[in-house]
Amino acid sequence: MRVVPWRQVAYWRCKTCGNCCKNYNVVLNFYEWLYTIKRFGVEYTSSSINRFFLNKRADGSCIFLQETPNISLCNLQYMKPLACRLWPFKILSKPKYGFHDQAIYHYDNQKLFVYADSACSGLTFGAPTREFTHYVLREFIEIVYGRRRRQFKSTGLLRQVSPVFALSSRFSPS
Ligand code: SF4
Ligand code: SF4
Repeated sequence: MRVVPWRQVAYWRCKTCGNCCKNYNVVLNFYEWLYTIKRFGVEYTSSSINRFFLNKRADGSCIFLQETPNISLCNLQYMKPLACRLWPFKILSKPKYGFHDQAIYHYDNQKLFVYADSACSGLTFGAPTREFTHYVLREFIEIVYGRRRRQFKSTGLLRQVSPVFALSSRFSPS
């Protein structure tokens, strides 16, 4: 994993490539785990000594990933775990990965440290655009603070979801 500070990111837009849903384990907090087993069944999760995870298929992909020839989509959509809603950004109260000055982000009189996992193909590197700085990143931070649930700029474009998928998904939002 190579992590870069947000000031090295010009823009981010999910390309719905699905790579993050195939190459990482999704850690659940207790409430997300409880919700998942109640709504879908215990077989949708796994655990280690002190952590809960979403289960994976034999090919390593997340159990909620739906792939079509051109696009990969999450069957959970608005119910995605926090770890998925924040990916590929890490929003911290203290610097963790170096690049201290380039990671600082001011939000509501607070100093945060924001990094991105460079493995995400949705990142464009360079000087941050105004849109990225003030709208895209801000939306991610509002999610961390519980001030926002719906995602617009911080997820794959929902208009890419075909009507057929939306109707057929058994996991569509309630
Ligand atoms: S968040 Fe990044 S890695 Fe994940 S599907 Fe979108 S573009 Fe691909
Ligand atoms: S829950 Fe959805 S977004 Fe998260 S890894 Fe699974 S398919 Fe991807």
